[in-house]
Amino acid sequence: MTKEELIASSEKNIVGTYRRQPVVFVRGEGAHLWDTEGKEYVDFVAGIAVCSLGHSHPRVVEAIRKQAGTLTHVSNLYYTEPQIRFAEMLVANSFADRVFFCNSGAEANEAAIKLARKYGHDNLKGRYEILTMKGSFHGRTLAAITATGQEKFHVGFSPLPEGFRYIPFNDVQCLEKAISKKTCAVLLEPIQGEGGVRVPDEGYLRAVREICDRKGILMILDEVQTGMGRTGKLFGYEHYGVTPDIMTLAKALGNGIPVGALAATEKVAASFGPGTHASTFGGNPLAMAAAIATLETILEEGFLENCRKMGEYLQERLWSLRKDHPVVQDVRGKGLLVGMDLTVEGNSIVKACLERGVLINCTFDHILRMVPPLVIARQDVDRLVQVLDEVMVR
Ligand code: PLP
Repeated sequence: MTKEELIASSEKNIVGTYRRQPVVFVRGEGAHLWDTEGKEYVDFVAGIAVCSLGHSHPRVVEAIRKQAGTLTHVSNLYYTEPQIRFAEMLVANSFADRVFFCNSGAEANEAAIKLARKYGHDNLKGRYEILTMKGSFHGRTLAAITATGQEKFHVGFSPLPEGFRYIPFNDVQCLEKAISKKTCAVLLEPIQGEGGVRVPDEGYLRAVREICDRKGILMILDEVQTGMGRTGKLFGYEHYGVTPDIMTLAKALGNGIPVGALAATEKVAASFGPGTHASTFGGNPLAMAAAIATLETILEEGFLENCRKMGEYLQERLWSLRKDHPVVQDVRGKGLLVGMDLTVEGNSIVKACLERGVLINCTFDHILRMVPPLVIARQDVDRLVQVLDEVMVR
């Protein structure tokens, strides 16, 4: 089929939930992709912060190949070694004592919401309310869109589940005031990703932790986008000198194989006893083999160092565009989660970059977001900046 035929078939047969760019990808390697016509692209999207080791990373490919030929799936009614090994790795490298596996970020957040409510039921006299942040994003299931503090995701889906309230991100006083006798948890991203790469003030997360401790409620960090090295440390919370009670992960966990996880302290995880939660595919051997290979690679010496260095270089080069392009009003982020805030809408720039073989994405209408593979090279950053220089107004 030609590209046009493929796109026409997609438009006819697939539910129209996505506004897609007119390109059909067939192959990827490292930070590069190729389309049906053999055109090469530098990928600053990485499946939206998913393919952190780059496309078709040989170690992940080999792990998947080997595991697929050995054992792909058995039920969680039984034990499997890859799941046990990956759980050990996550526990050894994070604050958490226990993990639960699922398949996506929304599912991980559903699990976190359920666990917080169950903890409230078991330990806090039935408190159930969860405070979340304006501008946040937590996924597309009914509870996850409700937790998401952006009205545009709620429209048309009423009635939404009860028990959520929204407060401004990065505002300690509002949080303090908003906690009621019903509140069992606060849910937030360490850096808001979909909300426009919003980095909180230095002391904010520490203040949230202190308030949660004082009030006896849970701090839940959604690290679906910030986790697994994206910000230059394995988890976003490591930048801020705090640990949460619950953390959710997905996206980069399997470098493209669907894997989600909830991680929690022993005390909190105790509220998820047998029969309280489950996932058919969660933690299956194939997904876990990909996750083990991915985490082993991220933990290798120099990997996160490269992410930090390239993140700094990317931010520095993007700032340099401001000289000739006054539409650039801010460049921000941590590691390789970087946003460039414009005074104009960004979609036409995304399209123009695509035509020139560079993939970027736009959030909040006017914020260009760069979340490339963490193995991105200097010359790829240079190419992005050169293309942006060409396509942005002066
Ligand atoms: N949480 C955060 C912070 C995200 O950025 C996303 C996706 O962009 C999600 C949750 C939802 O993840 P998924 O699409 O895997 O359900």
